[in-house]
Amino acid sequence: MKAVQYQTIGELPVVADIDIPEPGPGQVRLKITAAGLCHSDWFLMGLPAEMYSYGLPLTLGHEGAGIVDKVGEGVVAVKPGDDVAVYGPWGCGRCSECAQGRENYCPFAGELGITPPGLGSPGCMAEYMIVDDVRHLVPLNGLDPVQTVSLTDAGLTPYHAIKHSLDKLPAGSTAVVIGTGGLGHVGIQILRAISGAVVIALDVNDEKLAHAREVGAHHTIISDSDAPAKIRDLTGGIGADVVFDFVGATPTLEIARQSVRIDGSIESVGIGGGVLATGFGSTPFGVSVRAPYWGSRSELMEVLELARTGQVHVTVEQYSIDEAPDAYHRLHEGKVTGRAVVVP
Ligand SMILES: [Zn+2]
Ligand SMILES: [Zn+2]
Repeated sequence: MKAVQYQTIGELPVVADIDIPEPGPGQVRLKITAAGLCHSDWFLMGLPAEMYSYGLPLTLGHEGAGIVDKVGEGVVAVKPGDDVAVYGPWGCGRCSECAQGRENYCPFAGELGITPPGLGSPGCMAEYMIVDDVRHLVPLNGLDPVQTVSLTDAGLTPYHAIKHSLDKLPAGSTAVVIGTGGLGHVGIQILRAISGAVVIALDVNDEKLAHAREVGAHHTIISDSDAPAKIRDLTGGIGADVVFDFVGATPTLEIARQSVRIDGSIESVGIGGGVLATGFGSTPFGVSVRAPYWGSRSELMEVLELARTGQVHVTVEQYSIDEAPDAYHRLHEGKVTGRAVVVP
């Protein structure tokens, strides 16, 4: 089968021909119907050899959807033909966090060597993949996999961040979204669907801001050092109740710091490598800063329900598996609108 693999440190991924994997006891094989590309794939492919810990060759892809193709011994909860999405942040399944579906915060996954697909385990950017346990499959029940697949990360991650801050986002509040790409453009829609907040979106050019308005932003501002003053103007001088930074670079975190209101929150979601100093004299009084990671299993089910009711829609650019290396290049250049999805 074809699989998009990262094989050599510092080089682009390649389309490799590898054996179709067999599901072991308790495992499920999916015939992949869609696989999303993510900036975090670029993050790991940008790591120098001494910091790279994901194994080589690595089949990429942590946003996956497919049709159950073959089940391993003892699997009864799914059957061949079921259409499913893959829950990516795999945990141990036994600890209290995992019991609550919060496998993204499993404290034991690391020491047990449990890694997400495409981020250590063979990923979904291939014709087939193995899912280690049925609890990591969520039924699609007829949702279009190409339109839906990115919600497993680009939807789930902002949903988890927004839900955590929801008590600070009643009607009349203000949410700032920095970065309106893959995660941000879904985040705007989630804010509109589940909160009462006025949404101010920031990005680096007018084209991206036009897209942000299309998906529901009330106000858009170019993301630069003048942005905090404009956000203060739009909020009567008070600042934003919650700032969601989907970039996470030092300049965007600085915008967040200067834009958040007293007793507000900053959710630093992006993996841009920035660091925000907090404490007296840096962030305003009472501000909490959090760096969330991915989301829970039940939250993925909730995000898919938002898609089912049409409240969340992913803007998708579709590619074949052979085009995946080029698609990664486009993503890296910032040329992808919304999310790039490979359809094997
Ligand atoms: Zn991702
Ligand atoms: Zn666990």
